[in-house]
Amino acid sequence: MHAISGVRDPAASFPLDTVTDDAHERRQANRAVAVSAAGLALTGLVELAIALVSGSVALLGDALHNLSDVSTSALVFVGFRASRRIPTERYPYGYERAEDLAGIGVALVIWGSAAVAGFESVTKLLRHGATGHLGWGIAAAAAGIAGNQLVARYKLAVGRRIRSATMVADAKHSWLDALSSAGAMLGLIGVAIGWAWADAVAGIVVTAFICHVGWEVTADIAHRLLDGVDPEIIATAETAAAAVAGVMHAHARARWTGRTLRVEVEGFVDPKTPLAEADQIGRSVAAALAPRIPEMHSFTWSARAATQ
Ligand SMILES: [Zn+2]
Repeated sequence: MHAISGVRDPAASFPLDTVTDDAHERRQANRAVAVSAAGLALTGLVELAIALVSGSVALLGDALHNLSDVSTSALVFVGFRASRRIPTERYPYGYERAEDLAGIGVALVIWGSAAVAGFESVTKLLRHGATGHLGWGIAAAAAGIAGNQLVARYKLAVGRRIRSATMVADAKHSWLDALSSAGAMLGLIGVAIGWAWADAVAGIVVTAFICHVGWEVTADIAHRLLDGVDPEIIATAETAAAAVAGVMHAHARARWTGRTLRVEVEGFVDPKTPLAEADQIGRSVAAALAPRIPEMHSFTWSARAATQ
């Protein structure tokens, strides 16, 4: 049985050449995440300050949402830093799943901000709470729209350049977040034209938005903690392995540990196959899988005796 990891074990017997060439793109992705997080943090803090002064609950919810998005970006860094730590005997798979662990914290932050925003909004609606400093509030919501739009465009440009589906999806998230800020702005405009309840109602809408994000983050973390994987990967691995000469039948499993996709293939070969040849078949399977599953950064092969 061979465990191959081109990143951490340069002496691996089957170096996967897809592993080493993404350092430059990773740097670009990290810079994009850092710049976006700084922009969003600034936007969120401005919104939070004006929310506290004006009493606008919609702005409060939008500020909390933007700040919890920043904590998600911080998580990406935690994961990236942790994944560079060398595996030990106690943690033989490394520390990459620190990211999943931190993800639980991020989900709690998001649900916590939804609870605060929801509670404040409903309380304000029931008590007919007042909203002041409307001009400042509308300006802060405009900053929320602009901040999220800028971040969305930037992430979309970088995401397309480095062909990162995650970053493109993240750009869409920021684009939707601009809508949330627009909702807060509509509420404040409503108050300005005489509908005192409009801010509390906008606050409830923004809360629903946060709940939606909370649900997506929670579902994603549950998927990761349960070692969920795209079923397509298994089908591709089994088909590609079975097509290699000498393999009569193949079973595959795969799981992510952080950013490393580990593929395990059990290949059934002729029982009379010499060990050295069975080993060579494993190399051929690794070579066949690498281009078809580019995310694969670790490959484990076991040759089994086929029963006829
Ligand atoms: Zn968001």
